[in-house]
Amino acid sequence: MKSIFFSCILFPLWLVFAGNANAELQGQASVAALGAERLSLDPYLSLLEDPQGELSFEQVQRLAAEGQFSPLGNRSPNFGFSKSAWWVQLTLHNPGRTQQDWYLRQDYPLIDFLDLWQPQEDGWQLISTGDRRPFRSRPLDNRTFVFPLTLAPGETKTLFLRFQTQGSLNIGLEALSAEGLVSQVGHEYLFMGIYYGGFAVLLVYNLIIFMTVRERAFIFYVLYVFSYGLYMSVHNGLSFQFLWPDNSWLANKSLLLLLALSLFGALRFTREILGSAQLLPRADRLTAIMEWVAVIALLLSPVLSYHLVIVPLALLTTLLCVQLFAMGVMALMRGSRPARYFLVAFSALLLGAFTYMLKSFGLLPHNGFTQNAFQIGSLVEMVLLSLALGSRMGDIKRRNHLDVLTGLFNRRFFDEQLPLEFQKAQRRSQPLSLLVLDIDKFKEFNDSRGHTQGDKALRAVARVLASAIRKPGVACRYGGEEFALILPETGSGEAAVLAERIRARVAEETAGRFDLSVSIGHATLGEGSFASGYGLFDAADAALYQAKAAGRNCVLAFSGTTVP
Ligand code: GH3
Ligand code: MG
Ligand code: MG
Repeated sequence: MKSIFFSCILFPLWLVFAGNANAELQGQASVAALGAERLSLDPYLSLLEDPQGELSFEQVQRLAAEGQFSPLGNRSPNFGFSKSAWWVQLTLHNPGRTQQDWYLRQDYPLIDFLDLWQPQEDGWQLISTGDRRPFRSRPLDNRTFVFPLTLAPGETKTLFLRFQTQGSLNIGLEALSAEGLVSQVGHEYLFMGIYYGGFAVLLVYNLIIFMTVRERAFIFYVLYVFSYGLYMSVHNGLSFQFLWPDNSWLANKSLLLLLALSLFGALRFTREILGSAQLLPRADRLTAIMEWVAVIALLLSPVLSYHLVIVPLALLTTLLCVQLFAMGVMALMRGSRPARYFLVAFSALLLGAFTYMLKSFGLLPHNGFTQNAFQIGSLVEMVLLSLALGSRMGDIKRRNHLDVLTGLFNRRFFDEQLPLEFQKAQRRSQPLSLLVLDIDKFKEFNDSRGHTQGDKALRAVARVLASAIRKPGVACRYGGEEFALILPETGSGEAAVLAERIRARVAEETAGRFDLSVSIGHATLGEGSFASGYGLFDAADAALYQAKAAGRNCVLAFSGTTVP
């Protein structure tokens, strides 16, 4: 298993499968004949555990001569966390007729201390590297560990390596020809360029949106993308190669710092995007506590040892996955639109993780897709979360357009919408009608029955309007007890019928309880000529005034003579 983040998500499984280090090792490993461009060395490794990590190379050579090394066989050389130092013995053979340059590659880059002893004419040559040592200790400038090997024709060489690390101990050794190495490294860096390029685009794009709209959800998204992307780049060994090659302290601490920061970002972002404080108050409080745990881990990781922090963080990650998924489902059930994107995004990440896991356990074939499934899943996740943000913004905008008391559109929306519909109707030469409606004697109603009853009466009228109108028509609360209905593609005849229906239904549905009536004026673009939406509104308003003068509880059309 390569990724700790992945191990964390599947922490329980990881505990079961990672503990094979203590299995009995027997027999003798065979010699690796170098011929192909790439050769996985797993089957050729012999191992010796040094529990105290104190054995010298001379002692180890003696133990090797005594046959104390045991072959790995077909087991996986991934040991999870191990306090021991592990010695690897490996015998290589060049069956060719020419001298060959080969490269030994350890592809998991997060090994604290890695030493290689190679026999030369003048004795053993030692290369000491690892991510606790400066990046320049590596023989080749690569995110992984690559050691050049030289084998004369027919030569057989036995090498020794020593691995010691606080994180998961994954031995992933391969022998590559120069062609094999160039092609492998080229493909990897192309893939990673696309992956981190995607992260960079999402980061910059959403940062710019944040600067324009100042919506908090964006900044937490940016934090999540930033910390998660950087976390993955630590895993790949890229940040040590390019960002802090001389800072081996950061190379080791960054993993925990960034894991804690990205957990915090994920939690905070989820709360914002789902609006959980309002929608799911209880789940939200639990998430807030998890957020604090992440912050504490963030503050403690520079001072505590790796083991002390990684285990609680791994558990937190597992809990977080369950919690965030549950919150997504609950928000979806309560009709949240962003929750749809959120759940699909989250599923993409989990699907990627599971694909990678199935590959690791040999249940899926090893290919470019399964090998990188986890990273592909996480990039897809980030893209979908960005869409969830867009959807959330849509919700916020819609809410800014709604009247709090009645749930109809508000005055702001009316003012924006009327000129748009006016222009559209003019451009397409379609009719556009406007109804202006006012509750009769509402001041008296309020004075005698109180404002609470007044509010209920306003809602009752709003319900009649909402149920009477069909898209693309919209009903707005213009102010106080006045309402305006914008009716695109509606002629004056149709508008008059609708207005009369509304007047009758208000009287009918409030009878006994509120006993209200309304007066309605209406005007239509197409039958009269108006300079703007406001002209149309003034005409309908004038008709309303006439209806009031005519004794209230009636509908009047603009007659073409009364606009002030
Ligand atoms: P008319 O038939 O001429 O329209 O008489 P009116 O009393 O309805 O007219 P006026 O515009 O004088 O009174 C409107 C009243 O609506 C004043 C206020 O008490 C009431 N009102 C406005 N907004 C609200 C509100 O949000 N809630 C409640 N309860 N009353 C409101
Ligand atoms: Mg009134
Ligand atoms: Mg009024």
